[in-house]
Amino acid sequence: GEALAVSARVAPLGSRLVLLLVEDLTEARRIEAVRRDFVANVSHELKTPVGALSLLSEAVMDASDDPQAVERFAGRMQGEAVRLTNLVQELIDLSRVQNDDPLEDAEPVRVEELVAEAVGRCRHAAGTKQITMASNVWSPEGADQGDTGQGDTGHRAEPTATGDFRIWGNRGQLAAALGNLVENAVNYSPARTRVGIAARRVPRAGGDMIEIAVTDQGIGISEKERERVFERFYRVDPARSRATGGTGLGLAIVKHVAASHGGEVTVWSAEGQGSTFTLRLPEAAAAPTRDRAPRPSH
Ligand code: ADP
Repeated sequence: GEALAVSARVAPLGSRLVLLLVEDLTEARRIEAVRRDFVANVSHELKTPVGALSLLSEAVMDASDDPQAVERFAGRMQGEAVRLTNLVQELIDLSRVQNDDPLEDAEPVRVEELVAEAVGRCRHAAGTKQITMASNVWSPEGADQGDTGQGDTGHRAEPTATGDFRIWGNRGQLAAALGNLVENAVNYSPARTRVGIAARRVPRAGGDMIEIAVTDQGIGISEKERERVFERFYRVDPARSRATGGTGLGLAIVKHVAASHGGEVTVWSAEGQGSTFTLRLPEAAAAPTRDRAPRPSH
């Protein structure tokens, strides 16, 4: 507001330099506001479990002659401690993806390995809910064979043993990004549903992209919420997110990793039917001797 007023006053001077300075100021103010919001959010998110822990420890002391109550309270304390640990870990992850240049130690990372790691990370949670996880890493050649030519869903395609898809990037960050998407798919799906992970190559003028799509048959996300879920700490249903140990930071991390690798993440969803999150990332060049790493534009 204030910066705009300043801008209006200096505009008649016709000095581009002054205008640029004012724009810088506006941007600086915006960044400062985002930082303030973030700190406020973090404080709030930390206060909740810490407050609960403090109340529960008092309750334990008061109930010292009732072993069953003590056990109950201790169980809840453990839950709050897990939530705190998750939050701190995700804050560390977020700060790492924001501060480190992912391409500094970039390497060709096999998609098959990323998928295996993500599936492994969620195996326990999926097992408890009897969620089937299926992954398909197929080549575009395979997708076209005997199909209508669209390769639209690829379900007719022969899954090929192509561990050949490789992404150019930071292994740890890519694993964290895909892991978050698969974890969400499991968390926001009812029991006895299916989570699918599919990868394919998408031709592009400046170098091919690898697309990894994570599809669930879960609760879905309304159109209104779809753009907001990538914001830090944004949750459609905070209670549900907390129940699954969610922090509201996962998709913010995914979005950051995608962008810093020169890619993107998008979401398709039908409420009550499911969602598909798609990561699109630059393919690593086949020849290991030539560095064809795309540089991010920012
Ligand atoms: P959280 O830790 O809460 O899962 P995320 O940043 O990973 O945080 O996701 C933000 C919100 O987006 C979630 O709280 C949830 O409401 C929604 N969401 C994410 N993934 C899915 C999904 N696969 N299906 C439905 N809702 C989802």
